[in-house]
Amino acid sequence: MVDRARNELRRGLTSKRVRVSRSLAAVRDIIFPPSCVCCGRPTLEPESAQLCEACRELLLRGERRRCPRCCGQIPEFAAVCSRCESHGRRSYSAAICVGAYSEQLREAVLRSKKTSEFPATAALADLLWSLHRETLASWRIDGVVAMPMHWLRRLFRGVNGPQLLAERLARSLGAADLSSVLARRRNTPPQASLPPSARLANVRGAFRVRRANRVAARRILLVDDVMTTGATCQEAAATLLRAGAAEVFVAVIARSDA
Ligand SMILES: [Zn+2]
Ligand SMILES: [Zn+2]
Repeated sequence: MVDRARNELRRGLTSKRVRVSRSLAAVRDIIFPPSCVCCGRPTLEPESAQLCEACRELLLRGERRRCPRCCGQIPEFAAVCSRCESHGRRSYSAAICVGAYSEQLREAVLRSKKTSEFPATAALADLLWSLHRETLASWRIDGVVAMPMHWLRRLFRGVNGPQLLAERLARSLGAADLSSVLARRRNTPPQASLPPSARLANVRGAFRVRRANRVAARRILLVDDVMTTGATCQEAAATLLRAGAAEVFVAVIARSDA
């Protein structure tokens, strides 16, 4: 009886809190009208610091079918891309992205690497979530891990973009943010600066797992901003599997099709 009364009181307080926070958000939207994080024009959607419809269309322009394993572009009737067909299985089971690393999406990703651009990074994470909500749900993710940046590079950058994406996606998924679990052993040269043949060797042994018990038997979503050949994701996912993860999936904002 006491428990029931306590639960009812708690429910009442929670709904009151929700009503108050909605009212505050409405007042805030009148004083500071929400604007698109890309073009700055006011957006009509309430409670958002998001993308306007025009910018969303621009970011997704020209998107075609993608390989379900590595999210590379594929011709209309192919099941997987030629690389996945010839190389067989990768350490990660499947990958999703918003689109190609070019034009507006490339600019948005480059902006998201700056500390001051958190709303833009959040908008990209939300766009990825809205495009792939069903796929992400079907993966039954337990924990989200950001692609780690070497501490020396983070010192200069001030922020790890993938970390912000991972936090946002973990919240949308209702999964744990396990980013602190994966770390870089060494500061590797950027993959894009190397020929494709040297990329796998560049990242081999580059990662370590700090607390294996946090990933053991868990389904992990590995998050990065850009994927080039997938060699970095391949190595990071393999490291997580060796530490006992049940399965690893990948989500990136943009896929370089070069
Ligand atoms: Zn806009
Ligand atoms: Zn593929």
